[in-house]
Amino acid sequence: MNTLIRIKVCSSDAELGKKALDEAMSEFTRIGELTDKFAGKNLSNPEMSDVYRVNKNAGIKPVKVSEDTLAMLERSNYFAGLSGGAFDVTVGPIMELWGFGQVQYQVPTDEKLKQKLALVGYRRITIDKAQKTVFLPEKGMEIDLGGIAKGYATDMAVQKLRQMGIDSAIVNAGGNIYALGSKPDGSPWLTGVQDPRDSHKIIAVLQVKDTAVVTSGDYERYFLSDGIRYHHILDPAVGKPARKVISTTVVAPTATEADVLSTMLFVLGAEAGNEFIKKFPHVNAVFMDELRNITFSPELNNQIEFTDDGGYTVNRNIFNEVCD
Ligand code: ADP
Ligand code: MG
Repeated sequence: MNTLIRIKVCSSDAELGKKALDEAMSEFTRIGELTDKFAGKNLSNPEMSDVYRVNKNAGIKPVKVSEDTLAMLERSNYFAGLSGGAFDVTVGPIMELWGFGQVQYQVPTDEKLKQKLALVGYRRITIDKAQKTVFLPEKGMEIDLGGIAKGYATDMAVQKLRQMGIDSAIVNAGGNIYALGSKPDGSPWLTGVQDPRDSHKIIAVLQVKDTAVVTSGDYERYFLSDGIRYHHILDPAVGKPARKVISTTVVAPTATEADVLSTMLFVLGAEAGNEFIKKFPHVNAVFMDELRNITFSPELNNQIEFTDDGGYTVNRNIFNEVCD
């Protein structure tokens, strides 16, 4: 999955703990293989990747996929529909145009962008639930599950841990975190929110228990051209990097939702994003913009602590409807 995965399991039974760790880790391998766009290069048997096969057969024929891939697509399209396409897994061709997939960075011409944008549109994905098939109707269309796969794999790993009787663990897949239970001493797990412009600094600490915390930022994968930062979270409406914020952190019951929403809210920005999550009582978020303004859901008040490290402004009440 092109990222560092760290799992910490706490158990009084070392043998069980180790076994659980291995099982949880293998979920990342499994989901990583299913969703590998570049399976042709990365896997000895590229056909193992659903995403590779679906993309290869775009404009040709429907492809049978696993329950996991169906579940990821279903979740993705649910949020795509609710957000007017701010989250859209068919951004694949645009990701390649900017060179974010194969790491051949370039700023595309408007002409090229227009051409590739015609291939984007989550509504065009044909899913046959009964047959368990996925079909992309036009050659050149591509799905890219980079905005959900790590979160989904995190949930699968946590499910394995729970099944094995583990009740205290922390899973961190490149910033997709799930805190299972609490620390062995009963206190909540602590997760830091990184300063988007300085990886050595933490801007806030969150206390979490049986919760996912996922951050999307413009600092994960980017390149500079003429002093402008181009990064890997695209606004599907225009095919260019989203600019309203520089990082979003989402706290939600599952890592799948938190992963999708962190990417989606990044595209929507703080104002529309905060408005959006009001419909989801268990979902909260922290946004930071280029001017280092931080806004966050007031529901987080008793579990977040801001450090004073980095000269930003915390707007505590900006989205509070109650004025006091
Ligand atoms: P990271 O992969 O760094 O954790 P995200 O979870 O925000 O970051 O996912 C970014 C990835 O999601 C991109 O690398 C790309 O694969 C995919 N992506 C980019 N823009 C969108 C979008 N608007 N909708 C859905 N997926 C996207
Ligand atoms: Mg995401």
